[in-house]
Amino acid sequence: MRPFTYTCPETVGDAIKAYGPETRYIGGGTNLLDLMKMGVERPARLVNINRLPLTNIEEYKGGIRIGALVSNTDAANHSLIRTRYPVLSQAILAGASQQLRNMATMGGNLLQRTRCYYFYDPSYKECNKRSPGSGCAAKNGYNRIHAILGASEECIAVHPSDMCVALAALDAVVQVTGPQGERSIPFAAFHRLPGNTPQTDTNLHPGELITYIDIPALPYAKRSTYLKVRDRNSYAFALVSVAAIVDADSGGTVREARIALGGVAHKPWRAGKAEKALAGKALNESTLRTAAAAELEPARTYEHNAFKVELARRSIVRAVMTAAGTNYV
Ligand code: SF4
Repeated sequence: MRPFTYTCPETVGDAIKAYGPETRYIGGGTNLLDLMKMGVERPARLVNINRLPLTNIEEYKGGIRIGALVSNTDAANHSLIRTRYPVLSQAILAGASQQLRNMATMGGNLLQRTRCYYFYDPSYKECNKRSPGSGCAAKNGYNRIHAILGASEECIAVHPSDMCVALAALDAVVQVTGPQGERSIPFAAFHRLPGNTPQTDTNLHPGELITYIDIPALPYAKRSTYLKVRDRNSYAFALVSVAAIVDADSGGTVREARIALGGVAHKPWRAGKAEKALAGKALNESTLRTAAAAELEPARTYEHNAFKVELARRSIVRAVMTAAGTNYV
């Protein structure tokens, strides 16, 4: 491992001042330390942010504000989140293991890097995300876990977070502070599709630090669910996941549906086409299958992941029915 300097600032301002070339902020370290041990990340400087006062969950402008250093466990078990945004609590608890959730922070969860096997193993020379311009070993390799939506010729990796799928459906806002001051980033604009710069996962500017995650008021978010389909029932990343939030009238007509997908793209995938197809329609399996088909229509598959298309369609149907309290047939 490359030697690095290490500082522990007490304030957000001091943390930003400590940031320089080849620096990484470290919170729980549940992903960064693995990457450093494997030689994928080789920072010259670590800034430990665990002493910063970003550990509260509070009511904020009718919704809630979550400090970036709140642990995943504390967020999932917090009464405000469990009662107002059950989809977020379920998504967090679907991820990783209890030990990892105890260490992992809310801000750090947003910055998880892909679990593409070729990215994690530097003995593979071809990985545009790890080494820009080197190629993509996954395209002609074992690509069972890879993207079916929004990929590029340069990278077909998927974003690994469960929590971020729920935050996408909830239209969360990420608050950041950096050398140029504070700014708010709508969740849909926080993560990036790979395009021709897959080495860049987010739209954060150099030195910017996540301070809070704000979730707007959404009374009907009580009718929500997170469905995760994976190879084993715990400690596995999603093959496909769905965060679904449904507002329907007493006759079963959809006023608004929020749907986001995980395991299918380089960022949490907001299913706008499916949402549009459902608005104003009777909530039944037929309308749901039509909506899901619209969302997956542009899917592009590779040798080992074609199964994800039908899996995603069926998962959308099941998750929305569950969120709406309707039995899945
Ligand atoms: Fe690297 Fe992306 Fe290709 Fe995986 S899919 S090998 S992360 S470029």
